Amino acid sequence: MLRPNAFAKVAGPVAILGAIGWSLWLWPSHFLWVFPASGALFIWFSWSGEKEVKYIFLFLVTVAGFLLPKLSGGGDSIYLTTGAIAEVLCLWLLFFALSHSESARAAARERLASEETAAGEKIKSLEDELARYRLHLDSTLARIRDKGALSSAIQDMGAASTPDEVKGRLETLLNNYFPGALVELRSGAPRDFADRWVAERKIPLLVRNAETDSRFAKGFFGPGEKSFMALPLHLFGRLVGFVRASAQEPDRFRSEDLRGAELACTLAGVSMENIHLFEKVNELAIKDGLTGLYTHRAFQSRLDEEILRSARAKVPFALVMADIDHFKSYNDTFGHQAGDAVLKAVSETIAGGVRAVDFAARYGGEEFALIITGADKAQAAAAAEKIRVALEARSFNFGGKVSGVTSSFGVAEFPSEASAAGQLVRLADERLFKAKQAGRNRVVSA
Ligand code: GH3
Ligand code: MG
Ligand code: MG
Repeated sequence: MLRPNAFAKVAGPVAILGAIGWSLWLWPSHFLWVFPASGALFIWFSWSGEKEVKYIFLFLVTVAGFLLPKLSGGGDSIYLTTGAIAEVLCLWLLFFALSHSESARAAARERLASEETAAGEKIKSLEDELARYRLHLDSTLARIRDKGALSSAIQDMGAASTPDEVKGRLETLLNNYFPGALVELRSGAPRDFADRWVAERKIPLLVRNAETDSRFAKGFFGPGEKSFMALPLHLFGRLVGFVRASAQEPDRFRSEDLRGAELACTLAGVSMENIHLFEKVNELAIKDGLTGLYTHRAFQSRLDEEILRSARAKVPFALVMADIDHFKSYNDTFGHQAGDAVLKAVSETIAGGVRAVDFAARYGGEEFALIITGADKAQAAAAAEKIRVALEARSFNFGGKVSGVTSSFGVAEFPSEASAAGQLVRLADERLFKAKQAGRNRVVSA
């Protein structure tokens, strides 16, 4: 069965050939008028793209052009012969013109096709490049998102106010950063081979695939630990713990993840150091360096608080002022270093002689102030008396010389004897002076 296109290719020339043949048969003497119609066949072949058949046809047309004057019955009429030759020549010219334009068209088609192929290849390579850029863009955006989350979590960690809070935030950060992984914070000495590995080498450990890692024999890791990370936690250059993360699938952690976790651990350490230093600075402001007792400033603010609390709760409290007896001569006899040692020992005795709820401060020099909370004057005087006795009982040995130390005490009560802080201190001070006047080493509360 011929396809429509193939049918047209065959039917067209057959129809033209048939029409020419039939016309020549009807009017053989008029062949000069009919014969050129065969040019339509060249046009047809040129249109249909036929190549080989048209050469055969050119040959047939040429032969026909030489035979027709003889077959038409016109004899050797020079007129017919010349006309036929002219027509054959014209048909050849038409043939070559058509062939030429056809080859020009084919060359143009070929050029277009090659241009189309080149453009297709270019499009393909541009599409590939675009896909690569998209991939790069996606991974860059993901990295930016990760970094953004990491930086806000790190800021969050820096805002923590206790070491436990820092640890909690570090754990949350790592859990968010590695969803599905098991994150654990350990403090103290190394507990297993991974902790020891990190402690000995002082670098973090990354195990991408526990089954193929040649550094560790099989069985080192648990059944649910296919990927593993262990990092050290440092505080002031000292190893204080470990951060561990494990996952059930291999290749869960990349070296980038290890770097991120390492950064988070370092920042957690720095945050903890900051908290520690902040507490230390605060402590220095409220604690006396030599005796470890509260400072004068801390005493003043605590006294104000105590007055408010006592007034609100309607429970009295007492203030005890103490001063070491003849301390100047102690210094003069044994030197200032010995004096300092005595000051420390007296402070220990005073701090040990009050309850945890009470407040012992170094008021200045070798003077002390004690806030005895929820107690009246008699209870406070009894506490002061116990301290006085304890101090009297202590002996000090300096360069072979044994010596003792005594102290005098003045006691006053809030609110029955004074209604303001200044008034209370003044009254206790006056009673301390009375104790000195009365011969020292005693407690005066009236
Ligand atoms: P009194 O019984 O009247 O209190 O006699 P005193 O010698 O203790 O007299 P006063 O309270 O005036 O003397 C205080 C002395 O305490 C003077 C100073 O040399 C000494 N002192 C104050 N602070 C320190 C200190 O931090 N270290 C030493 N070693 N001595 C101190
Ligand atoms: Mg004194
Ligand atoms: Mg004094």
